[in-house]
Amino acid sequence: MVIEIVCSVCGASLYSGFELKPTKEILNSKDGKFRCKHCGAILSIHDFALEIFKAL
Ligand SMILES: [Zn+2]
Repeated sequence: MVIEIVCSVCGASLYSGFELKPTKEILNSKDGKFRCKHCGAILSIHDFALEIFKAL
């Protein structure tokens, strides 16, 4: 099972891996705001889509 967190603005993959980590940990928030590292959009934690794929 592969877990992927995707920016809801640009669709960039912010995390992809086999471990389900806390979103806060993945995004490394400093001030409570979460920025997409690709498009720079400030997102709330609820704006992230969590996609889970079955590994082939
Ligand atoms: Zn983005």
